[in-house]
Amino acid sequence: MDAQPTGLVTIPARSGKATRVTRGQRIRVVNTHGAQVVDTWAFNGQDLTEFMSMEHTRAHALTVFPTVGSTLFTNRRRPILTFLEDTSGGIHDTLIAACDRYRYELLGCATYHDNCTDNLASGLRHPGLVPPETPSPLNLFMNIPVAANGSVSFEAPVSTAGSFVTLRAEMDLVIAFSACPQDLLPINGIDCKPTEAHFELLA
Ligand SMILES: [Zn+2]
Repeated sequence: MDAQPTGLVTIPARSGKATRVTRGQRIRVVNTHGAQVVDTWAFNGQDLTEFMSMEHTRAHALTVFPTVGSTLFTNRRRPILTFLEDTSGGIHDTLIAACDRYRYELLGCATYHDNCTDNLASGLRHPGLVPPETPSPLNLFMNIPVAANGSVSFEAPVSTAGSFVTLRAEMDLVIAFSACPQDLLPINGIDCKPTEAHFELLA
């Protein structure tokens, strides 16, 4: 197994990072500057075609908002992560796809724009892996309110600097993060300035 990083690991602004995690370990994701969305994926460490699935998780949780105590499920309906702690205000998104080149083209970008889909692939390159697809991510700290009539909107995070969530691995897995580079909408704060975030593996 690849050596695991120790201490706080930087997820550089607009970039991706990934690491292997052993069953039972905890992963803390820190919103270092307070307003950064962190797209998060988890894959079965032995078979990347099994991965954390927001669609399957919502079917079991019966909510679109994961909270402390929530179990996150794979596309084979097995627990992969448990939400243990949350000091960020409890607003995370399970509905919105990872941003990609097509999203930015539709928003008017004429040249390449960093995006979470490419960050997943580049993050997994360090453990020497290739994602089988881009599953819908768990968008930590992302504020997508759902109104009573079903409409959604993109809003700035409610999290604060240094706030964090802690997840527990329920199987040996690979976890991947992208510090979302969206700077055309205020999803990473009203300043539209993506920043770094951090994660740490705990015993
Ligand atoms: Zn993104």
